[in-house]
Amino acid sequence: MKVKETGVSYYGLSYPEHAERDFKEMIAHNCNAVLLALSEFDIDFWFPNIVKVAKVAKDLGMKVYLNTWGIGKWFGGEPPSNFLTNNVKNRQVSAFTDEPLPAACFNTKAFRDYFHGLLEKLAIHVDADGFFWDEPHYALPKSYASITGGPADDWACRCSVCKRDFEELYGYEMPKIITKEVVEFRQDKALDILVEGAKIIKNIRPNSKIICCVHATINTYYVVENRGYDNWDKVGKTDVFDVFSTTILNWSLPRDYFKTITQRTVDIAKKYKKGSQRWIMGYYNEPKRLEEIKEVAHLYKDMGVESLFSWTYRGGHGTVLAAPRALEVWDMLGEAYGEVLDEKYKIK
Ligand SMILES: [Zn+2]
Repeated sequence: MKVKETGVSYYGLSYPEHAERDFKEMIAHNCNAVLLALSEFDIDFWFPNIVKVAKVAKDLGMKVYLNTWGIGKWFGGEPPSNFLTNNVKNRQVSAFTDEPLPAACFNTKAFRDYFHGLLEKLAIHVDADGFFWDEPHYALPKSYASITGGPADDWACRCSVCKRDFEELYGYEMPKIITKEVVEFRQDKALDILVEGAKIIKNIRPNSKIICCVHATINTYYVVENRGYDNWDKVGKTDVFDVFSTTILNWSLPRDYFKTITQRTVDIAKKYKKGSQRWIMGYYNEPKRLEEIKEVAHLYKDMGVESLFSWTYRGGHGTVLAAPRALEVWDMLGEAYGEVLDEKYKIK
């Protein structure tokens, strides 16, 4: 199997002439694709330039994917949410405390309409190759962020809309303790909004590729993290998704874990005839020996991953989440991509 795609995420994109320079730097780092990470503010405020920035990348020969970054705080990511700022309701609610959480409930009509409206606008106006569902998840009502974090007892969402829908479907009040029915309900609802979104996009741009990137957690017999996308078979067999992707692993995790997650990713992709994608951490943390970035890129290639992406451009240089040696990480990633990307797919 060949690596056909190598890319990084790119945010803070505001001016096409500046983006052009950055894209050329990415190509010099052996990237042939870019993921434009779009916050709600970007999509609202910078929309004319998003259209232009995407065109610049396309004109340079890159594949362009649009990432609905942190939208509603339902997708992963640091940006704040306009929706949450402008709506006091339509929030996810803690099952244990009944408190509203700082995350939109994607089962409410208000949020669904908002999200699908954004997708429609992007699909109509932005000439991109596809969309990227970035770590979608139900809010985890606990006090720490979770890259690999374990499960909590509390869960979401038990808002009035979710409770009503659950009761209509199952004929009894939505329990406060997670049952098999609650798990099913949450998973089905979590996929439903994305499936409808993908259909809206494909209706406008039939060749648009939909990449669904779920958290790279084990979710085995004993422990499931209940983000709503934890049943990889269910995500993998979703017709309108084209690529099955799993998210970043922290460099401090054992390499066996990298292998396990990657094998499971490739297995699901193959089983449901989808493309496969793995992410490489290029921000926040770095391996002790930077050459390990190359070793992991080769590992992924050898295991049959078709698309390799890294978060993020220049190792997050200049942000609070920069890798300690951000620019060196970026250069090593570029070399790694140069070694694993199939010649046929390189931008000359
Ligand atoms: Zn809800």
